[in-house]
Amino acid sequence: MIVVMRPSATQQEVDGVKRSIEEHGLEAFLSVGEERTVIGVVGDVERISHLGTLPGVDQVIRVSSPYKLASIQEPGERTRVRIGPVEIGLGSELVIMAGPCAVESREQLLETARCVSREGARILRGGAWKPRTSPYSFQGMGVPALKLLAEARGETGLPIISEVVDPADVEVFDDHVDILQVGARNMQNFALLRAVGQSRRAVLLKRGLSATIEEWLLAAEYILAAGNPNVILCERGIRTFETATRNTLDLSAVPVLRQKTHLPIVIDPSHGTGARALVGPMALAGAAVGADGLLIEVHPDPANARSDGDQSLSFDDFGALMDELRRLQFVRAPADSPPLPEERNLAASGIDELRDRIDEADARLADLVQERAALALEVQRRRDPHVHGHDVRRERDLLERAANGTSGPMTPVELTVVFDAVLRASRSVQRRHAQSALNGEDAAAGNGR
Ligand code: PEP
Ligand code: MN
Repeated sequence: MIVVMRPSATQQEVDGVKRSIEEHGLEAFLSVGEERTVIGVVGDVERISHLGTLPGVDQVIRVSSPYKLASIQEPGERTRVRIGPVEIGLGSELVIMAGPCAVESREQLLETARCVSREGARILRGGAWKPRTSPYSFQGMGVPALKLLAEARGETGLPIISEVVDPADVEVFDDHVDILQVGARNMQNFALLRAVGQSRRAVLLKRGLSATIEEWLLAAEYILAAGNPNVILCERGIRTFETATRNTLDLSAVPVLRQKTHLPIVIDPSHGTGARALVGPMALAGAAVGADGLLIEVHPDPANARSDGDQSLSFDDFGALMDELRRLQFVRAPADSPPLPEERNLAASGIDELRDRIDEADARLADLVQERAALALEVQRRRDPHVHGHDVRRERDLLERAANGTSGPMTPVELTVVFDAVLRASRSVQRRHAQSALNGEDAAAGNGR
């Protein structure tokens, strides 16, 4: 710590500051400049937080960080937290934590657990106690929900994260849950922080609604100082003047935290945005900015969810997001993990063969789609460029046939989506041709003038 005295400070005032430092068992080093005196302090500066109030003091500058355990000792230092078979942080793969906002029933939870597990999530989330803004909103099922979560873990093998709101519940959470979540509203509930600090489970600490990064790291320090080294930070949006989103998801917190702390960082795009349509893009952005994990709300029937339905992804939405995370290689495809030794030959050769056939089908599909577009283009060429070449009636018939389904594993809806995309691409080819024909016409007219 450095104490900068005012230019007008008297010798008596400088002596007073020096004495106060020494009375608290610390060492003071004076540097007398031409304009002012600066005093360096060595030792536990928490004991002399009053120095700024002494006469003659201009400012007190902290040199070391106030969060000793959470801070990095050297650039790039990272911690990895292990939760059963899952590792998060330092060099491990992006960990997807997904599940309902609140556990509502056995069926709802198990169905969701199976879906998120199948899609590649590594941790199952589910609220048992819900800290709700209104006392009349659904408050969670309590202990029965913890038992259902444990059952879902038994079936899927996914470790579980759930929010603890009362220090007295830490013991029962320890028995049922793998990661204790401290919610945004409890980030500075110091009794709770101390209690989870004594837990043997990992803790995910959400950023408070209006907390600065320093306050957040000091909250993490409470847990670390109480003896629990397995702390994960979670950015879930902060309150700003903006009302278009539920919260403002502070993605810059990730690179900022990387400069300050070694703890793993998770992004929660669900609470961060409050709107289903925004969850996917912000999840991808969180992955791109280097988060170690994502926490995502998924519900079998978002429209009828008992909490946070507006921001919950349907199973289809979640599947599409996982596909995108895999396509961008933030998450590895399941086949990338090494198969069990006994299964390697048989399973690998079978899958390889199937994949070769998929590649062949894709190549044929590409040729067919191009052939279709070439035919559509020919139709457009033979028409007046002011009139579009596609035949709306035949297109409608085609989509109707798709909607009635054909034999195969694709549902009518999926088949309709495919044909819709083919038709849209083919129309765009026709439109491009018509536009260039019209441009040629313009150019010709221009030249003639
Ligand atoms: C939650 O994750 O269910 C939750 C209540 O989040 P937050 O504390 O971020 O509002
Ligand atoms: Mn929620």
